[in-house]
Amino acid sequence: MSADFGLGSWPARRARIDPGRTALTQAGRTLTYAQLADGVERLAGDLTRRGVRPGDRVAYLGVNDISVFETLFATARCGAIFVPLNYRLSPAEIRYMLGDSGASVLVHSPDADDLVAAAGPHELQVVKTGDLTEGPPPEPEVGLDDPCLLLYTSGTTGRPKAAVLTHGNLTWNTVNQLAHLDVLGTDKALCIAPLFHCVGLGQITLPTLFKGGSVEPVARFDAGTILARIAEAGITSFSAVPTMLEMMCRHETWAATDLGSLTCVLYGGSPVAERVARAWLDRGVRLLQGYGMTEASPGVFMATHDGTLDHPVAAGVPHFFTDVAADGVRPLSAEPAELLVRGPHVFTGYWNRPEETAASFVDERWFRTGDVVRVEDDGWAHIVDRVKDLIISGGENVYPAEIEAIAVQLDAVDACAVVGVPDERWGEVGAAYVVARDGAEPDEAAFRAHLEQHLARYKVPKYVRFVDALPRNATGKIRRVELRKQAAQTYGAR
Ligand code: ATP
Ligand code: MG
Repeated sequence: MSADFGLGSWPARRARIDPGRTALTQAGRTLTYAQLADGVERLAGDLTRRGVRPGDRVAYLGVNDISVFETLFATARCGAIFVPLNYRLSPAEIRYMLGDSGASVLVHSPDADDLVAAAGPHELQVVKTGDLTEGPPPEPEVGLDDPCLLLYTSGTTGRPKAAVLTHGNLTWNTVNQLAHLDVLGTDKALCIAPLFHCVGLGQITLPTLFKGGSVEPVARFDAGTILARIAEAGITSFSAVPTMLEMMCRHETWAATDLGSLTCVLYGGSPVAERVARAWLDRGVRLLQGYGMTEASPGVFMATHDGTLDHPVAAGVPHFFTDVAADGVRPLSAEPAELLVRGPHVFTGYWNRPEETAASFVDERWFRTGDVVRVEDDGWAHIVDRVKDLIISGGENVYPAEIEAIAVQLDAVDACAVVGVPDERWGEVGAAYVVARDGAEPDEAAFRAHLEQHLARYKVPKYVRFVDALPRNATGKIRRVELRKQAAQTYGAR
């Protein structure tokens, strides 16, 4: 028997302890750990029969489903690398990722039929999830330093890059999460954040499966359905992106839904509005913010159960096995600085991008996050903004995130994004894109007056435009590159 300490061995290892416990459940289909372990072995056999060998890439396209986990673990059992793709991307983007990753097999769920066809013609093997059967058992040697996952970043600052995450990276992230959270083997976690994104996979899902709890994948997010499911199934935990939390607390069934079973609700990926955090706290649910990135598998900072009461929108304290520093490898302080991260959960590089990999590390081991952070005396970190989003206006630093947080304090404002525009006099000025709340009249004067009351004059955006919606990606992040282009076209020439 060859040694396999990778992710692919998790189902069988858990099945030795809790064979009869539910591992995965969804729409009437339930798999115990013993059944999952058995299924993974058979699917890994089929992938082996199809020629998948250690180091090969197996791509996956489809909504959150039990089969994502089966394919992930089976691919890992082969010593191969799983590449979950974002089904909201265009056929051209999917084609790019299939080519970039060099996948030899594409597994897809039936709902991705059209997208797969549109992204073709394919030179790789295309298999529908139900068509995977079995084959000779794989016998790979899998070590913690072997790559397990190619996870594309969200593409917020440019073209998505694939971070290579090893079995060790994912294991250490899981250990970090478990050192921080009270995850139990009796937990029932809903998996609502997309599994092609680090929040969906790493924050609560893998830690729950590691502990022997059960995970229920949710194919498509719908606030009312999720609220109903929490009460009906006694859900204990889930991990979300802020837009999901906001939609839930605004839903008509919110007030009447019993949330008493929830013990661990996590979120991350972008900042949350304070009013959203407070809405959940008022219902007795302590939201725990996590901050991280694809490259860190993803956790870096996380709020604590008690601390979140005093810091409802702060990112928390570093994970157990995570080192953090300010640019220049100095201690972090209340002075905003770019965050560096080091730890056994931090990736070793981007797939096929040696130059970007080299540029993203300093002193070899510290990853440059590209995020500006400040840490207060009590040790809690606050994410200030991305370095790339910083606006320098008349020599002063203006962080869009600060303006946006103030803007959404106005009841009449639903969402706001501020981007920089070139300006002859000031170098750069801000342009605010504002979404008025349903039924509220756009009122630029009131908007400006509110900002002027809370912010230094130089921070108040020069231009304000009310729009119906902000461009967002699949995890709810604002596509600033698009807004910046728009703003440059509209205002840049003035
Ligand atoms: P790309 O790297 O392709 O530009 P991305 O950085 O958005 O895209 P992800 O790895 O999905 O890709 O996201 C990580 C980033 O999300 C972080 O670097 C940070 O900017 C932001 N982020 C994550 N968690 C939080 C949080 N709790 N608060 C504010 N921002 C966050
Ligand atoms: Mg990034």
